[in-house]
Amino acid sequence: MKILVTGGAGFIGSAVIRHIIQNTQNSVLNVDKLTYAGNLESLSLIEKNPNYQFSHTDICDRAALDQIFTDFQPDLIMHLAAESHVDRSITGSAAFVETNIIGTYQLLEATRHYWNALPENKKTAFRFHHISTDEVYGDLEGTEDLFLETTPYAPSSPYSASKASSDHLVRAWNRTYGLPTIITNCSNNYGPYHFPEKLIPLVILNALAGKALPVYGNGAQIRDWLYVEDHARALYQVVTEAAVGETYNIGGHNEQQNIDVVHAICELLEELAPNKPEGVAQYKDLITYVTDRPGHDLRYAIDATKIKQDLGWVPQETFATGLRKTVQWYLDHQDWVANVQSGEYQNWVAQQYQSEQA
Ligand code: NAD
Repeated sequence: MKILVTGGAGFIGSAVIRHIIQNTQNSVLNVDKLTYAGNLESLSLIEKNPNYQFSHTDICDRAALDQIFTDFQPDLIMHLAAESHVDRSITGSAAFVETNIIGTYQLLEATRHYWNALPENKKTAFRFHHISTDEVYGDLEGTEDLFLETTPYAPSSPYSASKASSDHLVRAWNRTYGLPTIITNCSNNYGPYHFPEKLIPLVILNALAGKALPVYGNGAQIRDWLYVEDHARALYQVVTEAAVGETYNIGGHNEQQNIDVVHAICELLEELAPNKPEGVAQYKDLITYVTDRPGHDLRYAIDATKIKQDLGWVPQETFATGLRKTVQWYLDHQDWVANVQSGEYQNWVAQQYQSEQA
């Protein structure tokens, strides 16, 4: 099969592509704009594989998308391209509306145009898989509830509102035009190649540098953490096995308070990186409480029973095993981290693609 993956240079998209190239015979075309969050170095393990190709494209560019469909002729689409950081959505929501809503709309329309012209057997087998977040369901504060696939949407942040909008568009394109779509809503991911603005890599890297470990509010926010490679396996199973029109929640059954996550990282670092920066007695001494994010949801938690029952998917990692792997990965990949943090990588992107933009 030929699989078009959008956002494949990002954290989850790169895990999906590594999973497909390393475990199947399928071809992948990675369509990515390479924003600050996109990093082709996350694909270095598979970039030379003949089944892998890259296209430096903005999903908002309809003409470019049409050309990609004509040239590549995908059998499946896995749509992960998005602006994904809640904090950035609070200070600059425009890019979230642009990519997450307009970009998804452009991709849906380009897909519909292509799909309508396919022969009947290809049309039936085709799937458009939209990858979304559990944040569309809003806050579970004050309840013991879990998010079900039928939980009403109640997004709190510009990020989650833009993802909710894109989910609605995808569902409408299925219902109105018959486009064979599937949606998945996943909890917080963590693991290798995670951009250092997100909680887990930020805490690991700040601790190693002897910098403050910022914790929002009192750190009591609860998230359900899933190891990114478990998510990638789930996504591949969904796109190849799920019925048209389905929605699946994906989660790790790993509810943790943010402050406990930070303590767990500090304990792992005491064991795996005992040579601490000068002046640091214990990594946990670096924990610093900062003003909470506006509109911060207190608790998210996923009921992943449906995907287990229908497709037999369960996570392989516990939070303890996944977090240990993650901390060790950051210790072993200082080059990747240094390139991402120094801006060297963004300079390379600017140079590499200068001629395209001229
Ligand atoms: P990410 O920010 O690491 O990567 C996003 C990728 O999309 C980057 O490579 C970026 O260059 C690309 N991109 C952004 N705008 C684009 C555009 N206009 N055109 C083409 N490419 C563009 O995000 P992630 O954490 O890998 O998340 C991937 C998807 O999964 C997102 O849709 C996100 O909403 C969803 N999700 C993420 C999590 C999580 O914990 N990270 C959890 C659930 C769902």
